[in-house]
Amino acid sequence: MTNFQNSLPYAQQADRDDALHVFRSQFLFPQHNGKNAIYLTGNSLGLQPVTARAAVEQELNDWATYGVEGHFEGKNPWFHYHKFLTEKAARVVGAKPIEVVVMNNLTVNLHLMMVSFYRPVKNRFKIIMEGGAFPSDQYAMETQVRFHGLNPDEAIVELTPRKGEFTLRTEDILATIEHHKNELALVMMGGVNYYTGQAYDMQAITKAAHAAGANAGFDLAHAAGNLHLQLHDWDVDFAVWCTYKYLNSGPGGTSGVFVHERHAANNELPRFAGWWGHDEHTRFQMQKGFIPMRGAEGWQLSNAQIFPMALHKASLDIFDEAGMQNLRAKSVKLTGYLEFLINELNQILPEEKKLNVITPKDPEQRGAQLSILAGKDGRKLFDHLTQNGVIADWREPDVIRMAPAPLYNSFEDIWQLMQVIKNYLTT
Ligand SMILES: *Cc1c(COP(=O)(O)O)cnc(C)c1O
Repeated sequence: MTNFQNSLPYAQQADRDDALHVFRSQFLFPQHNGKNAIYLTGNSLGLQPVTARAAVEQELNDWATYGVEGHFEGKNPWFHYHKFLTEKAARVVGAKPIEVVVMNNLTVNLHLMMVSFYRPVKNRFKIIMEGGAFPSDQYAMETQVRFHGLNPDEAIVELTPRKGEFTLRTEDILATIEHHKNELALVMMGGVNYYTGQAYDMQAITKAAHAAGANAGFDLAHAAGNLHLQLHDWDVDFAVWCTYKYLNSGPGGTSGVFVHERHAANNELPRFAGWWGHDEHTRFQMQKGFIPMRGAEGWQLSNAQIFPMALHKASLDIFDEAGMQNLRAKSVKLTGYLEFLINELNQILPEEKKLNVITPKDPEQRGAQLSILAGKDGRKLFDHLTQNGVIADWREPDVIRMAPAPLYNSFEDIWQLMQVIKNYLTT
């Protein structure tokens, strides 16, 4: 256990002791009254790395200098640009390079994966997903089911917490998989739920899905760059993630895809293809007959989006330097400190003002984010935060989400945040 203390000197010492504290200066913070805002929305849009601008300028310059020849003559030839990202992205999610490709946007990739890994047949057509999943995921599942001529009410099984609880119990998830095992085609969950901040046991879920004869896929929008993922070892079939949340790769940024190695050479898997997924040796012969690349690259459609990828490359360099395991270790402490200070404050608050954290207390079952169920005055507290230079976020109907990002948030950030909250709730 960490011996946290509720004091500014403690927080400042924790920052001095933190080997990752140096990375803070590699990010650009929104300003509030001439100072860095307390930025807690890295789960929504990560901050801009200082290196991002030069990374984009490099490609603009190569475009200006070489025109089309930039595909081969540029510093980072565009023809292979996506490959510059693969190894580093694979390290972030615990995958082999053959299992990862960066392309498109998240929801697009979710659909592409569903085409290959949701193959309903007469008696095996159900999808298990978390109830109240992010809306894009709900719409993707609903319309995929309809695409196969099935009824979403029959095909989609939603997991919901027990009465009076906010998050799912792993045992209940596994029991639901077991219950539907004869009809189950796919288990498709978030890695971390965007609303509650709950991290699911992806290894156990995947194992249960496979035992039931189903595939297991994960939307890692809130998990990539947040948790220490081991997608290969966990035997996950597929995963998708965006790069603009914890991965700091800019608004609307590109996305990552994982397809397990055991599917790498399976050309029988149906897919929606494009020329960039075609065998690169014959890609430019422009002939009939799709032959997929081996591995995740075989799901590519289009040539690389250089500008979003340049941003992603700049960010992945930082993740590679910091190391995902180190980041996760700091994250556990940083979020633990936030939880500790919330508990300290609750001790001096009257019952009706206490902050109710709905994110699991077990660090293994959460990432960076804590979600606070804000009572009837929640919106006012949130507005107070905003006015005092705290950038957190409000999720309908009644949750304030705060996600200290270990790359750039400090223990002092957390302490200062809690002073702002304390001033509001105790006066
Ligand atoms: C952020 C997020 C999305 C957003 O999808 P885009 O295709 O990137 O717009 C989708 N699903 C989940 C779970 C998310 O957290």
